Amino acid sequence: MEPVEVRRSSRARRWRLEVPWGAPARLTVPSSATRADVERVLTDRRSWIEEQRLRQVPRLGLERLAVTESDARSRARKVVSVLAEREAEALGVAYRRIRIGGQRTLWGSCSARGTLSFNWRLVLAPAEVVDYVVVHELCHLLVPNHSQSFWSLVERHRPGWREQRAWLREYGPELLAFKPN
Ligand SMILES: [Zn+2]
Repeated sequence: MEPVEVRRSSRARRWRLEVPWGAPARLTVPSSATRADVERVLTDRRSWIEEQRLRQVPRLGLERLAVTESDARSRARKVVSVLAEREAEALGVAYRRIRIGGQRTLWGSCSARGTLSFNWRLVLAPAEVVDYVVVHELCHLLVPNHSQSFWSLVERHRPGWREQRAWLREYGPELLAFKPN
């Protein structure tokens, strides 16, 4: 049985159980939770945890890619910069700069000051997915939230965006957990 990291947090209002790719399962509980509560939840959720792990079968063949993080980062910068420059013009927006990051939870973000950040692991995703993430972040320069008007804007520029988002939902967790040697 896989061990579960238990974190007590004074800020936690609700119980949260996570089974991230490539990292130990963890349970976050409010500090008022008793040890018996924790034991009971872990017993109740045991099969759910195992089920999550069984689904985490590597399918992207990432371990076979001889890639170093620094190569992938510079490749990401190039690919993303070319796309962003072209698409910014198509959308009629201007960004300040591009940052390449390695967040474990995020593909891209767009700051109010116009900095676009992208995860270097995107270069290991299909080209249409990289393209979608770049267009998505550029669209945030016009609509800074995920409202209906944001998605209509994305839809106008990338009618096939749902397919790319589905790819990220399906394979994204594996890719985000990827750590090159
Ligand atoms: Zn967004």
